[in-house]
Amino acid sequence: MKTYRGSCHCGDVKFSFKQDEITEGLRCNCSICKRRGAIMGNFVIPPNDLTINLKNDDSLGLYEFGDKSAHHYFCTNCGIYPFHQTFRMPDHYRVNLGCLDDFETDGLSVDVFDGKSL
Ligand SMILES: [Zn+2]
Repeated sequence: MKTYRGSCHCGDVKFSFKQDEITEGLRCNCSICKRRGAIMGNFVIPPNDLTINLKNDDSLGLYEFGDKSAHHYFCTNCGIYPFHQTFRMPDHYRVNLGCLDDFETDGLSVDVFDGKSL
């Protein structure tokens, strides 16, 4: 296992987690993911295994829609999406690989999840 660290663009939202070497990414075609365009990890992180450090108590914004079973977070300063809690595995996190330090998403093999059809 390797420790990965990441942040939003301005650094107000930081996070870290342990994970096997990341070699694959995931995109999704649902209404929010297609707009966001992020390459996400194809793994989920249990609630207690994601360490989140916020500059301020209100650094993390929450956006929900539909039945609100998924929780989409964003930095309230720079607007970047660092991670969300999935609806498929409630409370589990999926991260934006583009936010990881010293990590390139170019060259990853990227699966596309058909979230649109759910
Ligand atoms: Zn930020």
